Amino acid sequence: MIYQQKGVMIRQTNYSESSRIITILNEDGVMVPLMARGFNKPKSPFIVLRQGFKEALFTYNRFKGIGTLNEVDVISHFKGINEDFELFSYGSYIMEFVTRILNDEDVTPKNFELLMKGFKLLEKKEENEKNATTSMVAIKLMPQYGIEINVDECALCGSRAYDTFSHYSFIYHSVICDHCANEETLERSVNIGNRIIYLAAYMKNVKLDMINSIKVNPENGRQLLNFTEMIYDEYAGVYFKARKMVKGMTGVDENP
Ligand SMILES: [Zn+2]
Repeated sequence: MIYQQKGVMIRQTNYSESSRIITILNEDGVMVPLMARGFNKPKSPFIVLRQGFKEALFTYNRFKGIGTLNEVDVISHFKGINEDFELFSYGSYIMEFVTRILNDEDVTPKNFELLMKGFKLLEKKEENEKNATTSMVAIKLMPQYGIEINVDECALCGSRAYDTFSHYSFIYHSVICDHCANEETLERSVNIGNRIIYLAAYMKNVKLDMINSIKVNPENGRQLLNFTEMIYDEYAGVYFKARKMVKGMTGVDENP
């Protein structure tokens, strides 16, 4: 069977001196392993895949198991990300959030759409804040990591008045409104502030198609990413390699 599908390369490993086996995440959300013959040769037709993130049209033969890559036509070069070391680190972080949760059972085109949305937003660094963009991707993936955050109503009184939310409780797994906040209810909670809770709730609830830009000031973006990471640490306990790269650049101490 010959396929022609949009996708992005998510992994690669040397197979022989000249060939590599690559894995693409295709537009249906399926991971497809492909033999790329001659990948390492100087005049390889797959040279475009050697560096950086690319969205491409992949033409390949596959019956089952490992397919054979025939052609690659780049759709998006993501130059903004690939030519900026800092943005590239954020791109790697987004890639890691998406790829860590991929498996062969729960296949959904949403994972590919989310990855491409994240890259497209990150690409325009004048318009979109990188920490907030990364947070958006991570927050959208939370259900797949088995994480459910309640940033919409107070766990104690049910209030949905956003302007009264400032604390997130790891006992109630929820925001606690200012009226219900006292020494007892705030045990194991963090004061993350109203603005950050609002942003987290927005990103959790808004449809992906509706997000065209993420205009957030850098300080709020950093705080939102810190909160998102705190949630992942508490509920998923997954270690992301790219996190250190990103933290190293923002000057935020990972373990204060
Ligand atoms: Zn309350």
